[in-house]
Amino acid sequence: METADRRDRDLTNAHTPVFGLESGPIQVVHAFWLAGMSCDGCSIAAVGARSPSVEQLVAGAIPGLPKVVLHHPVLDVEAGAAFMRPYHEAKAGSIGAPYVVIYEGSVADERIAGALGGYWSGMGARRMPDGSHQPIPTAQWLKDLAPGAAATIAIGTCATWGGIPAAAGNVTGSMSVMDFLGKEYLSALGLPVINVPGCSPVGDNFTETIATVLMFLAGVGPLPEFDELGRPAWLFRNTVHQGCTRAGYYEEGTFARNHGDKECLVELGCWGPVVQCNIVARGAMGHAGGCMRTGGICIGCTMPGFPDAYAPFYKAPPGKTLSSTASRVTGSFIRPLRRISQRRGNLTARWQQQGEVPSGWGHVRTPGVFTRATHYFYSKLQYAGSRFTPGSAEQRRLQAEGHSALRQARQQVQGESAK
Ligand code: SF4
Repeated sequence: METADRRDRDLTNAHTPVFGLESGPIQVVHAFWLAGMSCDGCSIAAVGARSPSVEQLVAGAIPGLPKVVLHHPVLDVEAGAAFMRPYHEAKAGSIGAPYVVIYEGSVADERIAGALGGYWSGMGARRMPDGSHQPIPTAQWLKDLAPGAAATIAIGTCATWGGIPAAAGNVTGSMSVMDFLGKEYLSALGLPVINVPGCSPVGDNFTETIATVLMFLAGVGPLPEFDELGRPAWLFRNTVHQGCTRAGYYEEGTFARNHGDKECLVELGCWGPVVQCNIVARGAMGHAGGCMRTGGICIGCTMPGFPDAYAPFYKAPPGKTLSSTASRVTGSFIRPLRRISQRRGNLTARWQQQGEVPSGWGHVRTPGVFTRATHYFYSKLQYAGSRFTPGSAEQRRLQAEGHSALRQARQQVQGESAK
């Protein structure tokens, strides 16, 4: 079966398009968008990107980057044969410029649908021996276009790892682009499949990856750093938890009881501590939104094991009891200490001396003996080894010197005006 699969996916292409930097700066790069078993969410995410935006890429508005000519089944202004023509030209090697392939959705096993006389996902049509026309599966387009592409980029978790269509029990034989093209696949530029996961992905993660690959292609930037799974390493190295706006609550051992609470969501089922994703740090679109910012738990949608490894989504991860108990224990000790330091930070030096806060907004309790003693020892630690300590003998000496200099200056001025 494995051998048959490999033979079916033979990636040799007699019309592998040629491009090279030796022919001068690259002005234009075609981007061929293919959609397999997808919900179009990745397209929506991509067009919401801001840094850079799709508009900037297609307008050639980023200095040093070639202009992107986007061929997208939904966004293209052309339709029918006019829309399909560039795909055929790229396949035939006559497109006249480098191109990248972008695949959205998982790649279904078309042999299964074909055996029943149908197809899973297709684009364009081909004439059959009996004269009829049949849709061309997008898997076929991927097979035909990937060898000549400067880069093949899988967008979204379905394309990168298989995603929901490839979950346990699927009947379509769905797989990722990497699975479909195989380990030996290299683009014409020598790159394995580039993977930008997420369901849907952060649009900016995708456009930023495209921009960095284009920079490399144009010879104005280094090859971006990808990890062992082809993810842009600088975007997917850290966990959601490390960039989460609620991580402080986790660290202090305070957890949400209900959806809508502001604390850490781990006990409601958040997998953020183990999931590699930057959505909270970056925001879903234009630095706004992002799962935990808007109250949603992390269900691991950027990870190869998604969805089965994180299901059922309504249950908390089994390891959370251990980690949240540890946070509760340390938090119960750390939290009160922090509140004491915080009280000190909320007092000016004058208020501390006066022992009173002159606020008309409400009564502010002045620190009691215990808090003052804690502040005293805390300051000792804070300023240990430092030459200048507020309130110290050295500070008072310098202050007295300053006062006496001012006094002398005033007396001098008064003496001169009296003459
Ligand atoms: Fe970590 Fe999730 Fe809690 Fe955020 S909500 S701090 S990602 S466990």
